[in-house]
Amino acid sequence: MDEEAAPKRGKNGPKFHCLPHSTQGSARMGTRKKVHTFVRVKPTDDFAHEMIKYGDDNKSIDIHLKKDTRRGVVNNQQTDWSFKLDGVLHNASQDLVYETVAKDVVAQALDGYNGTIMCYGQTGAGKTYTMTGTTENYKHRGILPRALQQVFRMIEERPTHAITVRVSYLEIYNESLFDLLSTLPYVGPSVTPMTIVENPQGVFIKGLSVHLTSQEEDAFSLLFEGETNRIIASHTMNKNSSRSHCIFTIYVEAHSRTLSDEKYITSKINLVDLAGSERLGKSGAIIALGDQKREHIPFRQCKLTHALKDSLGGNCNMVLLTNIYGEAAQLEETLSSLRFASRMKLVTTEPAINEKYDAERMVKNLEKELALLKQELAIHDSLANRTLVNYDPMDEIQIAEINSQVRRYLEGTLDEIDIINLRQIQEVFNQFRVVLSQQEQEVESALRRKYTLIDKNDFAAISAVQKAGLVDVDGHLVGEPDGQGFGLGVTPFSAKPGKKSKSKKTFKEQLSSSARKEGASSPVSGKELDVSTSKTQLTPSSKEGDVKDMTIRERETSSLEPLPSDSPKEELRPPRPSTPPPKPVAFEDFKNERGSEINRIFKDNKSILNERRKRASETTQRINAIKREMDVTKEALNFQKSLREKLGEYENKGLMIIDEEEFLLILKLKDLKKQYRTEYQDLRDLRAEIQYCQHLVDQCRHRLLTEFDIWYNESFFIPEDLQVALKPGGSIRPGMVPVSRIMSLGEDAQDKFSQLQQVVLPEGPDSVAFYNAKVKTEQKHNYLKTMMGLQQAHRK
Ligand code: ADP
Ligand code: MG
Repeated sequence: MDEEAAPKRGKNGPKFHCLPHSTQGSARMGTRKKVHTFVRVKPTDDFAHEMIKYGDDNKSIDIHLKKDTRRGVVNNQQTDWSFKLDGVLHNASQDLVYETVAKDVVAQALDGYNGTIMCYGQTGAGKTYTMTGTTENYKHRGILPRALQQVFRMIEERPTHAITVRVSYLEIYNESLFDLLSTLPYVGPSVTPMTIVENPQGVFIKGLSVHLTSQEEDAFSLLFEGETNRIIASHTMNKNSSRSHCIFTIYVEAHSRTLSDEKYITSKINLVDLAGSERLGKSGAIIALGDQKREHIPFRQCKLTHALKDSLGGNCNMVLLTNIYGEAAQLEETLSSLRFASRMKLVTTEPAINEKYDAERMVKNLEKELALLKQELAIHDSLANRTLVNYDPMDEIQIAEINSQVRRYLEGTLDEIDIINLRQIQEVFNQFRVVLSQQEQEVESALRRKYTLIDKNDFAAISAVQKAGLVDVDGHLVGEPDGQGFGLGVTPFSAKPGKKSKSKKTFKEQLSSSARKEGASSPVSGKELDVSTSKTQLTPSSKEGDVKDMTIRERETSSLEPLPSDSPKEELRPPRPSTPPPKPVAFEDFKNERGSEINRIFKDNKSILNERRKRASETTQRINAIKREMDVTKEALNFQKSLREKLGEYENKGLMIIDEEEFLLILKLKDLKKQYRTEYQDLRDLRAEIQYCQHLVDQCRHRLLTEFDIWYNESFFIPEDLQVALKPGGSIRPGMVPVSRIMSLGEDAQDKFSQLQQVVLPEGPDSVAFYNAKVKTEQKHNYLKTMMGLQQAHRK
């Protein structure tokens, strides 16, 4: 079935209106509008009353073709059509046509909506008459002059706006663009090669003259000039005017006269006199617009649709006026034009205001608002009794003052920085950053004055320094004592050359003996180190360490066995002092007492570790030396080789003959490579040993400090009667005193002790007997188990 028009089958058949009436209300579409379609019938004395009939509402037109006139006796041909449009203009005056077709479109253009009015139809059907009208008779003037008149009239009615009007007149003939308002005399098509340009603002034709018109009269002159040019051009170029499209455009720009309004609107009204429809054929691009199934309109394929791209469909008001003949002879073409009109009726548009912003006005308005807010702020400050606060951007002097404040604050000579306003707070933070980065730079440059700093990630630099023998493989300076900084009285290995003899014992033997002494204990992270203890034990000079070491050694050698750590002998300890000794002093005692064994193991492991480190460093140096020698040898070898090549080579049965010197060099290199490999292997083993040994040392250190803490608390904080009660057969049930509690006694000992008494003896000392009686048997069992574990640990 034909989509465009509904056929009426037979004279008495029902009338089908195929156009989808449901979409006419356009409520579903929101702001969507359809293309308004009108039909204007050219007056004639020979009107085909039999064939063309108008509906009573003046909105529909029915066409009836006499059956036999064209197709002979074949009876199944379609003979009746009905077209529904927005209006049928029959015998309508130019005035009525304008009122019906153009008035609203032009009116809306002044509110910012683009509008397009097109006349479509067969040549001679009255397109030009409708659009331009006769230039001789004012009464018969067409849409163009009337539109200009309306625009200027509306401008007069809007004194609140400054509205400018510009016009252009474009002709498209054979896909070439011609400026009908060009001030240049017409000379030929190649003179003004205009191009169609698209930008975010829309489509415009580059090279087309656009003329500002401040009054009706000017606009009319331009229109007449255009019409004249059109006629002249058609004669001089032998153009068939029925083939050309003419687009007269009125550009409107409306600025509010209220200066604060930065918004302004622009719009254009395109008044299009199309080429004869019989020329366009069905392939015309305008037709593509009417194809509702078509998603893509090939705007660029033809100059007309391209030039009108932002004015066809889309966001503008669109009107199509179809001019038809009323004579029977033209009925075929009339039918085709009406079909096109009904198709175009289905095209929907979404008119939108073209709003723009005047940047200059916007800035001015913002400045105004800023000034107002500043005033507001000043009033606010004075009401809040704040002294005059300046909100302007800071100058150099103010910034320098803040910088000085920040510096004084960091030094401690300024207690606080007063908050004044947001800008000042931001500047304070800013200056903090400035000062901080300056200080960083100062520290770095101070370091650089004293040391040569190498980026740890700069492998090239590090290897260069290693090559030079300045640092060992671990990056320690050669000869640098134990970098751990945890001395505990142990002197650096360099000060104890005698210890070297120990290294005759294999590493594994030493390790296993240390490990045996250490016993199985879980490794603990170094973070748990008692800082106060370790700090005081830092040995800044090896001398002090030596002295301490001497005393330990003396004690070690003077007593035949290490001091026992089990309980009976502990009772031999001197009476407890009234105030506990400082931890560093107590630590020395501890190392000679209960901690002597673990301290000895710790020291052993440490010296093994240091010795391994030293060996690793020596090996590294040797490796580097070998490498250097290898390089030198290689170079010498290369020299010999090049010399040989220069002097000419001797060959004997395919064997190269080389002199003795070169031969010796080859041997040497081979030997060096072997050495290198061996040393490298050694270094790898040493590194593994160092890693393992380091782990043992860390474990021992932690153990030593933990044991010391227990010892310290037991010796100076847990009351002796409680200790008695804790012993096997004592009155306190194990578990009543959490071990952690005993161990953590230290910081605020007095407090903790009173707490302890509360926990252990909630009813005071009198309750001891009670508890004792109650839990006799199994407590003993549990206790023994716990204590044995503890004592084992002590012995290690
Ligand atoms: P088109 O531009 O479609 O080829 P024209 O506008 O040039 O046709 O019309 C052809 C002739 O018919 C012109 O002489 C014109 O004045 C005349 N004409 C067209 N329509 C009307 C009308 N509605 N009333 C009077 N004369 C008309
Ligand atoms: Mg014409």
